[in-house]
Amino acid sequence: MDDNRAMVGDGGIKDPQLMYENLISKIRTSCPEMDMGRIRAAYDTACLAHSGQLRRDGSPYVTHCVAAADISVDMGLDEDSVVAALLHDVIEDTELGYADIARQFGEPVADIVEGVTKLTRVQYTSKEDEQMENLRKMLMAMAKDIRVILIKIADRLHNMRTMAYQSEEKQRSKSLETMEIYAPIAHRLGMQRAKWELEDLALMYLDPTGYREITDALDSRMPTLIDFMSKMELKIKTRLEEEGMQVSISSRIKHIYSIYRKMYTQKLDLNGIFDLCAFRVIVDNISDCYNVLGVIHYMFKPVPGRFKDYISTPKPNMYQSLHTTVIGSEGIPFEVQIRTWDMHHTAEYGVAAHWKYKMGDGNVRAGDEDKFAWVRRLLESQQESDATDFFHNLKIDMFADEVFVFSPKGDVINLPAGATPIDFAYSIHSAIGNSMVGASVNGRIVTFDHVLQNGDIVEVRTAKNAPGPSRDWLSIAKSGSARTKIKQWFKKERREENIARGHDIFENELRNRGMRMEDITDEEVLPILLKRVAYANLEEMYAAIGYGGITATRTVNRMKDELARIHHSAEKKTALEKVTEAAERRETNAKKNARPVHGILVEGLDNCLIKFSRCCTPVPGDEVIGFITRGEGVSIHRRECRNYKRNAENPADLGRWIEVDWADNITERYTTGITVVSHERSGLVMDIATVLNSLNSKVRTLNARDIEGSRSIVNITLEIKGIEELRMVINKLSSIRGVSEVSRNGN
Ligand code: MN
Repeated sequence: MDDNRAMVGDGGIKDPQLMYENLISKIRTSCPEMDMGRIRAAYDTACLAHSGQLRRDGSPYVTHCVAAADISVDMGLDEDSVVAALLHDVIEDTELGYADIARQFGEPVADIVEGVTKLTRVQYTSKEDEQMENLRKMLMAMAKDIRVILIKIADRLHNMRTMAYQSEEKQRSKSLETMEIYAPIAHRLGMQRAKWELEDLALMYLDPTGYREITDALDSRMPTLIDFMSKMELKIKTRLEEEGMQVSISSRIKHIYSIYRKMYTQKLDLNGIFDLCAFRVIVDNISDCYNVLGVIHYMFKPVPGRFKDYISTPKPNMYQSLHTTVIGSEGIPFEVQIRTWDMHHTAEYGVAAHWKYKMGDGNVRAGDEDKFAWVRRLLESQQESDATDFFHNLKIDMFADEVFVFSPKGDVINLPAGATPIDFAYSIHSAIGNSMVGASVNGRIVTFDHVLQNGDIVEVRTAKNAPGPSRDWLSIAKSGSARTKIKQWFKKERREENIARGHDIFENELRNRGMRMEDITDEEVLPILLKRVAYANLEEMYAAIGYGGITATRTVNRMKDELARIHHSAEKKTALEKVTEAAERRETNAKKNARPVHGILVEGLDNCLIKFSRCCTPVPGDEVIGFITRGEGVSIHRRECRNYKRNAENPADLGRWIEVDWADNITERYTTGITVVSHERSGLVMDIATVLNSLNSKVRTLNARDIEGSRSIVNITLEIKGIEELRMVINKLSSIRGVSEVSRNGN
């Protein structure tokens, strides 16, 4: 039977020298390639640095360092990790610093020790789930090197084992942190062994009564269980050997916390827990896994629905095994896990096993990006995918592009990498950002362009009469949402200033491009140019340029294009006039002769296939144009359609745009799409539906969704008789409270 209880209070005052010798002999057996001199040097350094310091149990402090190193060896970590584990508390607790460690043991070791120190300094307070999730991600992001996390887990494991000597308050808070942060991280990294021990130890302090109930009940059954397990082990092993298979078989009582969870979630007492013991069969190759399964199902009756094949479908944390539950001869159900040795190492040590057994030489190159990317993917896929969490989780993909910082209250705020106090302030609330007058990070005053680091505690100072954001902030802010909020402020608060400023910028740009104001302010030309840049008048355009809604370069570019076009067409006009006249004549003739299809007359074509374009969904009364498609007849667009405008002069489509018109008496209805933009509010969709209903409009689809800036977009498709009816609908929708824009699709 495996030793399966968490190690508690490993008893009495420790002799560091003795523990060190045990460590060395363990390393000699399991990783003889390690440099013993270097490990000795690390031990000596730790002894010296921590000399005089005692643990709560009275042992020299360095015993904790040796214990953490010992656990690291069990996890299969590399030499640098073992050295770093021995030194993991020296930066935090002694005179030695990063430079001292780097000089003697190299930068990789110093980096790891410093990483562990940073994690140790993170202040933890229990929060709701999402905050916990952010905190876990923050720790992972801070660690940078996965070995930092692994050593932190080793450190925590030893501290939990020796928690008996701490005050009750500390026992509780550390146990809570272990249960909420470190056990889940160990789980994600696939380190089952560390995970269950952390959970069991934490449970012991969090619910001592519940813990005792289970251990007492198990203890009273222990003789029976042990007897049962050893008989079964023998029976299974004998049988498998008869079948010619070489297997290693072991058995264990399930972990206290997993029994505890089952009892509480399923409201059972210990008698009701299905399978208290589990057997593990380890074989040499995958096909033997299935062979063993066959034999076991032949020997015992399998419980339906309990067979799981994690070999063909591994768990996201790489776990692989076959699981089945069967009923033994005494009527006692038990679980059997079947796996190969490879799978076994992975199941026990997760990421660490990947390292030791899959990386080959055992020396992991520092800063191996691929490796970290792999861990990141692991974390991503490990997310318990609840549909609502799906998009939230997508963000983890950008793990490296994120930074996690604390608010003064201890909330974890998630920002893009490179974020500054400005991003932080606006992510709390736009009012905080707009009234910010100063910021500090970890208690020290910083400038607004200070780049935040993982784990920073960020505080902003605000003032009622703050001058508001400055334009520089737009280039300092890293997050789109902060920039949007800053722009909104300028748009609202500084209209006059924006117009003056926009005017200057625009004129300047004109000059740079060799144009004059008079070129564009010509009475006939100006309306066309404004339409091209989509502003009602020059003032609006200046305001937009002023607050940064559009660049002057862009507006001038468009105007210049438009001017060239106007100029060009003026020249062509006379030559074209004759041709156009002829075309018009033909058109009238065509209309007289052709028979309409779906209410559309096509120049020179009778009875052709007509399709209404989906981009702009024309209705009778719209000015329309036809496009001869390849094999699908003529598709009808509005002349205002952006696809038509974009492609009208495309040489590839030369001759494919043809004149079409509506027939006179149309009775059909036409499907068309409109988009409503509104401030986000409740009851919006209901109000829209009410208006449409009152107009007797035939609604085919109606979809609403929220977008950035607390706005909602509602897409509606309607069946409509013509432009008059549509105008009415648009008017009515525009007058609904909160609606800022109603537009037809395709413009
Ligand atoms: Mn420690």
